[in-house]
Amino acid sequence: MGWIGAEGMGGHDLQLAAAALVVAVALCPLALVMFFRALASHGQRRLAWLLAAATAFGTGIWGMALLTHASPVSAGAPVSLALSLIEAVTGALGAFSLWSRSRGQPSFLMLGGAIIALAVVAMHYTGLAARPFPPADVTEALALPGFLQILAVLGGAASLILLLGLVVTMVDVRFVLRRAKEAERLRQLADAAFEGLLIHRDGIILDANTALTTLVARPREALIGADIFDFIALSSHPLIRERLATRPSRIDEFAIMLPDGSRRFAEVLSRPILYGGKPATIAAVRDISERKQAAARIEHLARHDALTGLPNRAKFLDLLRDILAESDETGAFASLLMLDIDRFKFVNGLYGHDLGDALLRAVARRLSAIVRHHAGAAGQLARFGGDEFAIVFPALRQAGAAATMAEALQAALAEPFEIAGQSIEISARIGIAFAPQHGKTATALMNSADTALFWAKRAVRPVMRIFEPAMETELQMRRRMERDLRLAVQNRALDIHYQPIYARDGRTLLGFEALVRWFQKDRGWTPPGRFIPLAEESGLIVPLGRFVLEAACAEAAKWPDGFYVAVNLSPVQVRTDDLASMDVLSKTGLPPSRLELEVTEGVLIDDTERARAHLLALKALGVRLVLDDFGTGYSSLSYLGRFPFDKLKIDRSFVSRLAEDAGAAAIVRAISALANSLGLAVTAEGVETGAQFDLLRAEVACTEIQGFLLGQPMTAKAARRLIQRQRASAWNAA
Ligand code: C2E
Ligand code: CA
Ligand code: CA
Repeated sequence: MGWIGAEGMGGHDLQLAAAALVVAVALCPLALVMFFRALASHGQRRLAWLLAAATAFGTGIWGMALLTHASPVSAGAPVSLALSLIEAVTGALGAFSLWSRSRGQPSFLMLGGAIIALAVVAMHYTGLAARPFPPADVTEALALPGFLQILAVLGGAASLILLLGLVVTMVDVRFVLRRAKEAERLRQLADAAFEGLLIHRDGIILDANTALTTLVARPREALIGADIFDFIALSSHPLIRERLATRPSRIDEFAIMLPDGSRRFAEVLSRPILYGGKPATIAAVRDISERKQAAARIEHLARHDALTGLPNRAKFLDLLRDILAESDETGAFASLLMLDIDRFKFVNGLYGHDLGDALLRAVARRLSAIVRHHAGAAGQLARFGGDEFAIVFPALRQAGAAATMAEALQAALAEPFEIAGQSIEISARIGIAFAPQHGKTATALMNSADTALFWAKRAVRPVMRIFEPAMETELQMRRRMERDLRLAVQNRALDIHYQPIYARDGRTLLGFEALVRWFQKDRGWTPPGRFIPLAEESGLIVPLGRFVLEAACAEAAKWPDGFYVAVNLSPVQVRTDDLASMDVLSKTGLPPSRLELEVTEGVLIDDTERARAHLLALKALGVRLVLDDFGTGYSSLSYLGRFPFDKLKIDRSFVSRLAEDAGAAAIVRAISALANSLGLAVTAEGVETGAQFDLLRAEVACTEIQGFLLGQPMTAKAARRLIQRQRASAWNAA
């Protein structure tokens, strides 16, 4: 470019040429900047940017070409020059708009390049045509004032374009920055949202906020461009696919699969939006895992026993139904075991509820260990509340297997439990029923197992019982009896008979024992030995016992002074009924000294402290306490010292053996002697024969005698007559 330092060129011209060069060189990068702006914008904005970029680029290459050619230009040249400029700009515009649409496609890029090349060739051609003669001397060309003028005009124009471009670019940059700030603010807003927000187009993620990245436990970079199905759990795929196809605006629940394989539950609401000018979908995703968990917890609580975590009755019934439905299909048998712990209430009362709870948990653990480790199909264990457990074995076919299982369970519970420093021994009763023989439905089978358990509980020893149809009929009989007895108590339709009790001489009448009697027209007499236990189980004994006590006291109050009445109290009554606060004595006017209360050892064993307190309260009223049936139960002589008894009744079973059994006679003798030494009276009851009577009189230190030999239980009327006869004979004797 030797022309720059040309001799003939004036300082002014040189500056102008340099300015033109700078402008030309600066225009190309400017054009590039503007092209990229065009790429980043849409619609008319893009068109404007493309036009600006093409103008800058076209002018730039045109100016450069002009300078390099540096040819003298005739006065008529401007038209050709302008035309060549237009060619350059148009070519650039064509290429740029092609490139802006190319999306990196090589064919577009090449085509654009070709257009530019073509435009350059055309521009050169048109521009050369403006020259009247072939290029000669640069100095000469530059020296031409006409050329310089044109160059100055062109330079001015280009500067203007450059300036304009700069201004526009600056404005645009500020606008872009503002947009970026706004976008940043929006992103911050979106990120601050608790809900996950996600924009996708046909399932391909375009954007996501922080809440969503946390929810799906993946970084934003991993999400953008990814498929939404990458993080949706397989189980939710069909639903989401359907929603994508139909695009309804409603809330759906779906499961998210986290990278670690765990799941979360979410709720999603989508609606269409325009994103980057194109339709897309925005989805608001809310984490509902906690809500789901809470619901699951509630469901668990509702269907499981809180103490042991075992299924409860409701859940067990469902399990049983499923098992029965399955065995109905496969023809397999199922066995249902109902288990009840003996005297659990007593343990609870004796050691406290905390220990009772711990015991139940320990029982549940032992049972489930066996049920789970059963060789065949594993059983299902449940707790029905209290001390009742149920177990179903889907495939314990034979009665033998079920019985073996029941024995194993009983043996496991028979081992002492060490809880809170206490060693607790318990036993369990089990009732077993088989499906389908003993019940095809869950409730029928459960009833049968319950019935079997009922009879197992009636046994003396802790046993297991397999259901038999006869159990059912007997149970129904008992239920009917219970209903009838309840009515009889309500209607005071029970009788009381009185059995005389004599002094050791067998002649002096001292009092009577009140014995309840139940007569029904259709059934005749039901002995108390049958209905008293029933009344004790059902709790009916409390009103029944009150009735007997009141009636007997009222009757005895009519007797002359000196004759007492003895009333039997059931252990259940002593435990539950507040007899001491009863006004039966004041109501009937019977002096307390003429009332004896007979209790059995059962009262003392179950809840020693409570029984002691209740008995002491009764004793405080001034009544006498009698220990009944001595010799049948635990026959612990220690009770005699610990409880405030006045009298001991030697049971009939001992008395009846007196004559034959020397051992029994020795025991009766010893007991009587001990009782006497403790200041207790001793009654021998159930004396039926003269031999027994004689033996008692000769060898046993008993103070009173009662039995069929001396008098059967009799009606109140007969008892009154007996008293009168006794008084008359006493009168006669006197
Ligand atoms: P218990 O308290 O031992 O009453 C004595 C039972 O022996 C009575 O039977 C009586 O009839 C029977 N007995 C008396 N002497 C003889 C005899 O020489 N030979 C034979 N074989 N038996 C004799 P009962 O009336 O059938 O009462 C049976 C049990 O029912 C009573 O035994 C008592 O435990 C209970 N009981 C009766 N009445 C009541 C009551 O009002 N309340 C409560 N809680 N229990 C009652
Ligand atoms: Ca009695
Ligand atoms: Ca007795």
